[in-house]
Amino acid sequence: MTYNLHTHTKRCNHANGEDREYVEAAIEAGMEVLGFADHCPQFFPDTDYYSFFRMLPEQAHEYAESVRALQKEYQNDIRILLGFETEYYPKTYDALEAFMQTLHPDYLIMGQHFVGNEYDEGSFYAAEMGKREGYLRHYVRQVKEGLSKGTFTYLAHPDIVWYCGSAAYYKHKMTELCRFALEHDIPLEFNMLGLVNGRNYPEPAFWDIVSEVGNKVVIGCDAHDPRALLQNDVYERCKTILKGHGITPVPFEEIVLRNEKL
Ligand SMILES: [Zn+2]
Ligand SMILES: [Zn+2]
Repeated sequence: MTYNLHTHTKRCNHANGEDREYVEAAIEAGMEVLGFADHCPQFFPDTDYYSFFRMLPEQAHEYAESVRALQKEYQNDIRILLGFETEYYPKTYDALEAFMQTLHPDYLIMGQHFVGNEYDEGSFYAAEMGKREGYLRHYVRQVKEGLSKGTFTYLAHPDIVWYCGSAAYYKHKMTELCRFALEHDIPLEFNMLGLVNGRNYPEPAFWDIVSEVGNKVVIGCDAHDPRALLQNDVYERCKTILKGHGITPVPFEEIVLRNEKL
């Protein structure tokens, strides 16, 4: 693993370890670039709902300062980047982008864990079994709309939807998503955590489509513990699986960070 742009911190309430431990593990693993992309705060208007599986808005500055300080301290050993993993919620995106402009992160990755948003009626958790055609259609529409904002570096676990409908429809909609990502030069992430935990993703049928369309592919650790960065064996397994689909992940240099607006 020469780089990983998908690293969480304990601020999201479901990850372990100190920020420094992630950096030291990445150096031990021989990485050249480590990007922190902890779960981004969200801004929910007209509701007192708040999700506790991501940092609070008031923690974000401390997070940014911590990563920037490590960036300086370890500059001779590794390149550290400040990022966030975020949902794209149409109603609240403008507030999110304005907030990001106060932090100036190096990059954002999109991880669409929910379709709709996560508090309104008609919103759904993507990785729950049994999603049908209408849901997949909504997911693809929402992801495309988010990617068109021009602020996302890559799409995390694009195959997160646990779809149980017709295979032909899956191919049709996911081809649409992959072609859109290709046109916008946005890489797709093969998610190591999903593989390790035996989740519904990475989904083999999806990676066949990626191979056909010819997208750029990134392997993302999705580290929620510093030790996850040391799983070179899992990384090699990911590479072997991708090779089976005829896919070679891109080097860091081929990734466009796309942070001009932030
Ligand atoms: Zn997480
Ligand atoms: Zn993540």
